[in-house]
Amino acid sequence: MIKFLDLQKVTESFQPKLNEAIHRVVDSGWFLLGKEVSSFEQEYASYTGTGYCVGVGNGLDALRLIIRAYMKMGVLKEGDEVIVPANTFIASVLAITENQLTPVFVEPDIQNSNLDIGLIEQHITEKTKAIMVVHLYGQVCWAGELNSIAKKYGLKIIEDNAQAAGAVWSKNDISPEEPSNIPGKKKILAAAKGIDHRRSGSLGDAAAHSFYPGKNLGALGDGGAVTTNDEDLANTIRALANYGSSEKYIHRYKGINSRLDELQAAILRVKLARLDQDNHRRREIARLYINSINQKNVVLPSDTNLAHVWHLFVVRHPDRDDLMRYLLEKQIQTLIHYPVPPNKQSAYKEYNDLSLPVTEILHQQVLSLPISPVMSEHDVQIVAEAINSYPN
Ligand SMILES: *Cc1c(COP(=O)(O)O)cnc(C)c1O
Repeated sequence: MIKFLDLQKVTESFQPKLNEAIHRVVDSGWFLLGKEVSSFEQEYASYTGTGYCVGVGNGLDALRLIIRAYMKMGVLKEGDEVIVPANTFIASVLAITENQLTPVFVEPDIQNSNLDIGLIEQHITEKTKAIMVVHLYGQVCWAGELNSIAKKYGLKIIEDNAQAAGAVWSKNDISPEEPSNIPGKKKILAAAKGIDHRRSGSLGDAAAHSFYPGKNLGALGDGGAVTTNDEDLANTIRALANYGSSEKYIHRYKGINSRLDELQAAILRVKLARLDQDNHRRREIARLYINSINQKNVVLPSDTNLAHVWHLFVVRHPDRDDLMRYLLEKQIQTLIHYPVPPNKQSAYKEYNDLSLPVTEILHQQVLSLPISPVMSEHDVQIVAEAINSYPN
Protein backbone atom coordinates (compact mmCIF):
# COMPACT_ATOMS: atom_id res chain seq x y z
CA MET A 1 0.00 0.00 0.00
CA ILE A 2 1.30 3.46 -0.86
CA LYS A 3 0.02 5.64 1.93
CA PHE A 4 -1.22 9.15 1.36
CA LEU A 5 1.21 10.26 4.04
CA ASP A 6 3.53 7.95 5.96
CA LEU A 7 3.84 9.96 9.18
CA GLN A 8 5.71 7.18 10.92
CA LYS A 9 8.41 7.30 8.27
CA VAL A 10 8.50 11.11 8.41
CA THR A 11 8.94 11.03 12.19
CA GLU A 12 11.57 8.30 11.97
CA SER A 13 13.58 10.38 9.51
CA PHE A 14 14.15 13.00 12.22
CA GLN A 15 15.59 10.56 14.73
CA PRO A 16 17.54 10.54 16.97
CA LYS A 17 17.11 14.32 17.18
CA LEU A 18 13.42 14.16 18.05
CA ASN A 19 13.95 11.81 20.95
CA GLU A 20 16.81 13.96 22.20
CA ALA A 21 14.57 17.03 22.13
CA ILE A 22 11.75 15.19 23.86
CA HIS A 23 14.06 13.94 26.61
CA ARG A 24 15.51 17.38 27.08
CA VAL A 25 12.04 18.72 27.85
CA VAL A 26 10.95 15.78 29.97
CA ASP A 27 14.15 15.98 32.02
CA SER A 28 13.81 19.75 32.46
CA GLY A 29 10.49 19.33 34.25
CA TRP A 30 9.25 22.56 32.58
CA PHE A 31 6.34 22.07 30.18
CA LEU A 32 4.66 25.38 29.48
CA LEU A 33 5.78 28.96 28.80
CA GLY A 34 9.46 28.16 28.87
CA LYS A 35 12.68 28.35 26.92
CA GLU A 36 11.74 25.95 24.10
CA VAL A 37 8.70 28.01 23.14
CA SER A 38 10.51 31.33 23.31
CA SER A 39 13.43 29.91 21.29
CA PHE A 40 11.08 28.46 18.71
CA GLU A 41 9.20 31.76 18.51
CA GLN A 42 12.44 33.61 17.82
CA GLU A 43 13.59 31.05 15.29
CA TYR A 44 10.29 31.00 13.43
CA ALA A 45 10.00 34.80 13.42
CA SER A 46 13.48 34.98 11.96
CA TYR A 47 12.73 32.18 9.47
CA THR A 48 9.57 33.88 8.22
CA GLY A 49 11.19 37.30 8.31
CA THR A 50 8.71 38.80 10.77
CA GLY A 51 9.19 40.80 13.92
CA TYR A 52 7.04 38.67 16.21
CA CYS A 53 5.91 35.10 16.57
CA VAL A 54 3.42 33.96 19.22
CA GLY A 55 3.03 30.23 19.76
CA VAL A 56 -0.58 29.11 20.25
CA GLY A 57 -2.51 25.86 20.60
CA ASN A 58 -3.34 25.16 16.93
CA GLY A 59 -3.99 26.78 13.56
CA LEU A 60 -7.65 27.54 14.15
CA ASP A 61 -6.76 29.31 17.41
CA ALA A 62 -4.12 31.32 15.57
CA LEU A 63 -6.78 32.51 13.11
CA ARG A 64 -9.44 33.25 15.70
CA LEU A 65 -6.98 35.00 17.99
CA ILE A 66 -5.84 37.31 15.19
CA ILE A 67 -9.43 38.37 14.58
CA ARG A 68 -10.25 38.64 18.26
CA ALA A 69 -7.15 40.73 18.91
CA TYR A 70 -8.05 43.09 16.08
CA MET A 71 -11.49 43.44 17.71
CA LYS A 72 -9.96 44.27 21.09
CA MET A 73 -7.72 46.79 19.35
CA GLY A 74 -10.73 48.44 17.72
CA VAL A 75 -9.64 47.51 14.20
CA LEU A 76 -12.51 45.05 13.60
CA LYS A 77 -15.99 44.91 15.10
CA GLU A 78 -19.01 42.60 15.04
CA GLY A 79 -20.77 42.62 11.69
CA ASP A 80 -17.70 43.61 9.70
CA GLU A 81 -17.16 41.67 6.49
CA VAL A 82 -14.09 39.59 5.77
CA ILE A 83 -13.28 38.42 2.24
CA VAL A 84 -12.41 34.73 2.32
CA PRO A 85 -11.84 32.16 -0.43
CA ALA A 86 -14.87 29.94 -0.95
CA ASN A 87 -12.49 27.05 -1.59
CA THR A 88 -10.74 26.51 1.73
CA PHE A 89 -10.69 24.35 4.83
CA ILE A 90 -13.56 25.30 7.11
CA ALA A 91 -11.22 26.64 9.85
CA SER A 92 -10.62 29.82 7.83
CA VAL A 93 -14.34 30.55 7.92
CA LEU A 94 -14.94 29.40 11.51
CA ALA A 95 -12.45 31.97 12.77
CA ILE A 96 -14.53 34.71 11.14
CA THR A 97 -18.01 33.59 12.17
CA GLU A 98 -17.02 32.69 15.70
CA ASN A 99 -16.17 36.34 16.22
CA GLN A 100 -19.55 37.47 14.80
CA LEU A 101 -17.99 38.79 11.63
CA THR A 102 -19.40 37.99 8.21
CA PRO A 103 -17.51 35.87 5.68
CA VAL A 104 -17.81 37.02 2.07
CA PHE A 105 -16.97 34.04 -0.10
CA VAL A 106 -14.96 34.74 -3.23
CA GLU A 107 -14.43 32.19 -5.97
CA PRO A 108 -11.06 30.60 -6.67
CA ASP A 109 -9.05 30.77 -9.85
CA ILE A 110 -9.69 27.42 -11.55
CA GLN A 111 -6.02 27.21 -12.61
CA ASN A 112 -4.53 27.13 -9.13
CA SER A 113 -7.55 26.78 -6.79
CA ASN A 114 -6.45 29.83 -4.81
CA LEU A 115 -8.56 32.91 -4.21
CA ASP A 116 -9.03 34.79 -7.49
CA ILE A 117 -7.46 38.09 -6.54
CA GLY A 118 -9.06 39.80 -9.54
CA LEU A 119 -12.53 39.18 -8.06
CA ILE A 120 -11.86 40.76 -4.67
CA GLU A 121 -12.61 44.37 -5.45
CA GLN A 122 -16.15 43.74 -6.70
CA HIS A 123 -17.01 42.12 -3.34
CA ILE A 124 -15.87 45.05 -1.23
CA THR A 125 -18.59 47.02 0.58
CA GLU A 126 -18.52 49.67 3.30
CA LYS A 127 -18.45 46.87 5.84
CA THR A 128 -15.42 45.10 4.42
CA LYS A 129 -12.54 45.40 6.86
CA ALA A 130 -10.23 42.50 6.07
CA ILE A 131 -9.14 39.97 3.48
CA MET A 132 -8.17 36.49 4.52
CA VAL A 133 -5.89 34.87 1.99
CA VAL A 134 -5.30 31.14 2.22
CA HIS A 135 -2.12 29.73 0.69
CA LEU A 136 -3.94 26.59 -0.36
CA TYR A 137 -2.08 23.34 -1.05
CA GLY A 138 1.18 25.14 -0.23
CA GLN A 139 0.85 27.70 -2.99
CA VAL A 140 1.26 31.33 -2.09
CA CYS A 141 -1.81 33.44 -2.81
CA TRP A 142 -0.33 36.87 -3.26
CA ALA A 143 0.11 39.72 -5.71
CA GLY A 144 1.24 43.29 -5.42
CA GLU A 145 -2.35 44.14 -6.33
CA LEU A 146 -3.52 42.83 -2.95
CA ASN A 147 -1.51 45.50 -1.18
CA SER A 148 -2.98 48.23 -3.36
CA ILE A 149 -6.53 47.00 -2.69
CA ALA A 150 -5.85 46.83 1.04
CA LYS A 151 -4.43 50.32 1.04
CA LYS A 152 -7.20 51.77 -1.10
CA TYR A 153 -9.97 50.45 1.16
CA GLY A 154 -8.11 50.40 4.48
CA LEU A 155 -8.27 46.62 4.89
CA LYS A 156 -6.19 44.26 7.00
CA ILE A 157 -4.75 41.23 5.24
CA ILE A 158 -4.71 38.04 7.26
CA GLU A 159 -2.83 35.04 5.88
CA ASP A 160 -3.94 31.50 6.60
CA ASN A 161 -0.53 29.90 6.18
CA ALA A 162 -1.53 26.51 7.59
CA GLN A 163 -0.62 24.73 4.36
CA ALA A 164 2.37 26.72 3.18
CA ALA A 165 5.10 26.74 5.84
CA GLY A 166 8.32 27.82 4.18
CA ALA A 167 6.83 29.05 0.92
CA VAL A 168 8.48 32.01 -0.73
CA TRP A 169 6.82 34.74 -2.73
CA SER A 170 8.90 36.68 -5.18
CA LYS A 171 8.06 39.79 -7.13
CA ASN A 172 10.43 38.70 -9.85
CA ASP A 173 9.73 35.33 -11.36
CA ILE A 174 12.37 32.86 -10.36
CA SER A 175 13.03 30.11 -12.82
CA PRO A 176 11.56 26.84 -11.63
CA GLU A 177 14.50 25.14 -13.30
CA GLU A 178 16.83 26.55 -10.72
CA PRO A 179 15.76 25.49 -7.28
CA SER A 180 19.03 26.86 -5.96
CA ASN A 181 17.52 30.28 -6.55
CA ILE A 182 15.23 29.80 -3.59
CA PRO A 183 16.43 32.43 -1.21
CA GLY A 184 18.14 31.34 1.95
CA LYS A 185 17.53 32.78 5.34
CA LYS A 186 19.80 35.78 4.86
CA LYS A 187 17.96 36.88 1.76
CA ILE A 188 14.63 36.34 3.48
CA LEU A 189 15.72 38.60 6.29
CA ALA A 190 16.85 41.17 3.76
CA ALA A 191 13.47 40.69 2.15
CA ALA A 192 11.76 41.64 5.38
CA LYS A 193 13.40 45.00 4.88
CA GLY A 194 11.54 45.54 1.64
CA ILE A 195 13.38 43.61 -1.05
CA ASP A 196 12.16 40.95 -3.49
CA HIS A 197 11.67 37.65 -1.76
CA ARG A 198 9.39 37.16 1.19
CA ARG A 199 8.13 34.11 2.98
CA SER A 200 4.48 33.33 3.34
CA GLY A 201 3.57 34.44 6.84
CA SER A 202 5.29 37.78 6.32
CA LEU A 203 3.20 39.07 3.42
CA GLY A 204 0.06 40.39 5.10
CA ASP A 205 -0.59 42.16 8.41
CA ALA A 206 -0.76 38.93 10.38
CA ALA A 207 -0.49 35.23 9.59
CA ALA A 208 -1.81 32.06 11.19
CA HIS A 209 0.30 28.90 11.11
CA SER A 210 -0.71 25.33 11.92
CA PHE A 211 1.67 22.65 13.13
CA TYR A 212 -0.87 19.84 12.85
CA PRO A 213 1.19 16.64 12.35
CA GLY A 214 0.44 16.31 8.62
CA LYS A 215 1.40 19.88 7.73
CA ASN A 216 4.78 20.71 6.13
CA LEU A 217 6.07 21.79 9.53
CA GLY A 218 4.26 19.33 11.76
CA ALA A 219 4.41 18.79 15.51
CA LEU A 220 3.65 15.48 17.21
CA GLY A 221 0.27 16.78 18.29
CA ASP A 222 -1.46 20.14 17.98
CA GLY A 223 0.40 23.41 17.65
CA GLY A 224 0.10 26.77 15.96
CA ALA A 225 1.53 30.27 15.80
CA VAL A 226 0.83 33.81 14.72
CA THR A 227 3.50 35.86 12.96
CA THR A 228 3.27 39.61 12.46
CA ASN A 229 5.31 42.80 12.41
CA ASP A 230 2.70 44.53 14.58
CA GLU A 231 3.93 44.61 18.16
CA ASP A 232 0.57 45.68 19.53
CA LEU A 233 -1.17 42.81 17.81
CA ALA A 234 1.43 40.30 19.01
CA ASN A 235 1.08 41.49 22.61
CA THR A 236 -2.71 41.42 22.46
CA ILE A 237 -2.70 37.89 21.06
CA ARG A 238 -0.22 36.73 23.67
CA ALA A 239 -2.45 38.08 26.42
CA LEU A 240 -5.70 36.75 24.89
CA ALA A 241 -4.16 33.29 24.57
CA ASN A 242 -3.11 33.38 28.21
CA TYR A 243 -6.45 33.99 29.97
CA GLY A 244 -6.40 37.61 28.84
CA SER A 245 -3.40 38.30 30.97
CA SER A 246 0.08 39.63 30.34
CA GLU A 247 0.85 39.96 34.02
CA LYS A 248 0.12 37.16 36.45
CA TYR A 249 -3.39 37.45 37.98
CA ILE A 250 -4.08 40.72 36.16
CA HIS A 251 -6.69 40.07 33.46
CA ARG A 252 -7.24 42.72 30.86
CA TYR A 253 -9.46 40.58 28.59
CA LYS A 254 -11.82 37.63 28.92
CA GLY A 255 -9.18 35.45 27.32
CA ILE A 256 -8.74 31.80 26.51
CA ASN A 257 -6.02 29.26 27.13
CA SER A 258 -4.24 28.46 23.88
CA ARG A 259 -0.57 27.72 24.17
CA LEU A 260 2.12 25.93 22.24
CA ASP A 261 3.71 23.62 24.80
CA GLU A 262 7.41 23.06 25.44
CA LEU A 263 7.43 19.54 24.07
CA GLN A 264 5.90 20.55 20.74
CA ALA A 265 8.15 23.61 20.52
CA ALA A 266 11.27 21.48 21.05
CA ILE A 267 10.06 19.07 18.35
CA LEU A 268 9.29 21.93 15.96
CA ARG A 269 12.78 23.37 16.44
CA VAL A 270 14.24 20.10 15.17
CA LYS A 271 11.88 20.03 12.21
CA LEU A 272 12.23 23.72 11.31
CA ALA A 273 15.94 23.18 10.74
CA ARG A 274 15.08 20.81 7.88
CA LEU A 275 12.00 22.57 6.47
CA ASP A 276 13.67 24.10 3.41
CA GLN A 277 15.27 20.80 2.51
CA ASP A 278 11.94 18.97 2.96
CA ASN A 279 10.11 21.50 0.82
CA HIS A 280 12.78 21.16 -1.84
CA ARG A 281 12.17 17.42 -1.85
CA ARG A 282 8.42 18.01 -2.19
CA ARG A 283 9.16 20.18 -5.23
CA GLU A 284 11.19 17.38 -6.80
CA ILE A 285 8.37 14.91 -6.24
CA ALA A 286 5.83 17.32 -7.69
CA ARG A 287 7.97 17.81 -10.78
CA LEU A 288 8.35 14.06 -11.18
CA TYR A 289 4.57 13.65 -11.02
CA ILE A 290 4.09 16.44 -13.54
CA ASN A 291 6.60 14.90 -15.93
CA SER A 292 5.25 11.37 -15.53
CA ILE A 293 1.46 11.67 -15.50
CA ASN A 294 -0.13 11.84 -18.94
CA GLN A 295 -3.61 10.40 -18.45
CA LYS A 296 -5.88 12.04 -21.01
CA ASN A 297 -8.44 13.50 -18.58
CA VAL A 298 -6.23 14.36 -15.64
CA VAL A 299 -5.60 18.06 -15.15
CA LEU A 300 -2.23 18.57 -13.50
CA PRO A 301 -1.26 21.47 -11.26
CA SER A 302 1.18 23.89 -12.79
CA ASP A 303 4.71 24.11 -11.48
CA THR A 304 5.48 27.44 -13.05
CA ASN A 305 6.31 29.19 -9.84
CA LEU A 306 8.55 28.34 -6.98
CA ALA A 307 6.20 29.91 -4.49
CA HIS A 308 4.80 26.45 -3.92
CA VAL A 309 5.78 24.04 -1.17
CA TRP A 310 3.43 21.25 -2.28
CA HIS A 311 1.69 20.51 1.00
CA LEU A 312 -0.73 18.74 -1.31
CA PHE A 313 -0.35 17.57 -4.89
CA VAL A 314 -3.85 18.05 -6.25
CA VAL A 315 -5.01 16.90 -9.68
CA ARG A 316 -8.46 17.17 -11.22
CA HIS A 317 -10.47 14.55 -13.06
CA PRO A 318 -14.12 14.68 -14.19
CA ASP A 319 -14.74 11.22 -12.75
CA ARG A 320 -12.73 11.80 -9.59
CA ASP A 321 -14.58 9.32 -7.33
CA ASP A 322 -14.09 6.49 -9.79
CA LEU A 323 -10.39 7.32 -10.26
CA MET A 324 -9.99 7.34 -6.50
CA ARG A 325 -11.57 3.87 -6.24
CA TYR A 326 -9.41 2.61 -9.09
CA LEU A 327 -6.24 3.79 -7.37
CA LEU A 328 -7.28 2.29 -4.06
CA GLU A 329 -7.75 -1.07 -5.78
CA LYS A 330 -4.16 -0.67 -6.88
CA GLN A 331 -3.17 -0.07 -3.26
CA ILE A 332 -2.71 3.68 -3.63
CA GLN A 333 -4.28 5.87 -1.01
CA THR A 334 -5.52 9.30 -2.09
CA LEU A 335 -7.61 11.94 -0.31
CA ILE A 336 -9.98 14.76 -1.26
CA HIS A 337 -9.22 18.31 -0.11
CA TYR A 338 -12.08 19.03 0.23
CA PRO A 339 -15.21 17.10 -0.74
CA VAL A 340 -17.70 19.73 0.51
CA PRO A 341 -17.00 23.49 0.56
CA PRO A 342 -17.67 25.41 3.81
CA ASN A 343 -20.72 27.18 2.37
CA LYS A 344 -22.37 23.81 1.61
CA GLN A 345 -21.89 22.42 5.12
CA SER A 346 -24.86 22.09 7.48
CA ALA A 347 -22.89 24.26 9.93
CA TYR A 348 -23.42 27.09 7.43
CA LYS A 349 -27.05 26.62 6.38
CA GLU A 350 -27.31 30.37 5.86
CA TYR A 351 -24.82 30.09 2.97
CA ASN A 352 -25.99 26.78 1.46
CA ASP A 353 -27.78 28.50 -1.40
CA LEU A 354 -24.88 30.65 -2.55
CA SER A 355 -23.94 30.01 -6.13
CA LEU A 356 -20.19 29.38 -6.41
CA PRO A 357 -19.77 27.33 -9.58
CA VAL A 358 -15.97 27.28 -9.74
CA THR A 359 -15.74 26.17 -6.13
CA GLU A 360 -18.24 23.41 -6.82
CA ILE A 361 -16.36 22.12 -9.86
CA LEU A 362 -13.19 21.96 -7.79
CA HIS A 363 -14.87 20.11 -4.97
CA GLN A 364 -16.27 17.57 -7.42
CA GLN A 365 -13.02 17.05 -9.31
CA VAL A 366 -10.01 17.42 -7.00
CA LEU A 367 -7.93 14.50 -5.84
CA SER A 368 -4.81 14.71 -3.67
CA LEU A 369 -2.04 12.25 -4.55
CA PRO A 370 0.47 10.95 -2.00
CA ILE A 371 3.31 13.37 -1.37
CA SER A 372 5.84 13.80 1.43
CA PRO A 373 9.56 14.43 1.81
CA VAL A 374 10.12 10.73 2.55
CA MET A 375 8.26 9.40 -0.49
CA SER A 376 10.54 7.47 -2.85
CA GLU A 377 10.78 8.19 -6.57
CA HIS A 378 9.86 4.58 -7.13
CA ASP A 379 6.55 5.12 -5.33
CA VAL A 380 5.93 8.30 -7.31
CA GLN A 381 6.41 6.30 -10.51
CA ILE A 382 4.02 3.60 -9.32
CA VAL A 383 1.35 6.21 -8.63
CA ALA A 384 1.94 7.92 -11.98
CA GLU A 385 1.78 4.62 -13.89
CA ALA A 386 -1.41 3.61 -12.09
CA ILE A 387 -3.01 6.91 -13.08
CA ASN A 388 -1.80 6.58 -16.66
CA SER A 389 -3.39 3.13 -16.84
CA TYR A 390 -6.80 4.50 -15.85
CA PRO A 391 -8.97 4.01 -18.93
CA ASN A 392 -11.55 6.81 -18.51
C1 LIG B 1 -4.98 22.71 8.89
C2 LIG B 1 -5.62 23.99 8.52
C3 LIG B 1 -6.13 24.88 9.49
C4 LIG B 1 -6.28 24.53 10.93
O1 LIG B 1 -5.15 24.17 11.60
P1 LIG B 1 -5.28 23.27 12.93
O2 LIG B 1 -3.92 23.34 13.52
O3 LIG B 1 -5.69 21.92 12.52
O4 LIG B 1 -6.31 23.93 13.79
C5 LIG B 1 -6.60 26.10 9.06
N1 LIG B 1 -6.61 26.43 7.76
C6 LIG B 1 -6.17 25.61 6.81
C7 LIG B 1 -6.20 26.05 5.37
C8 LIG B 1 -5.68 24.35 7.15
O5 LIG B 1 -5.25 23.51 6.18
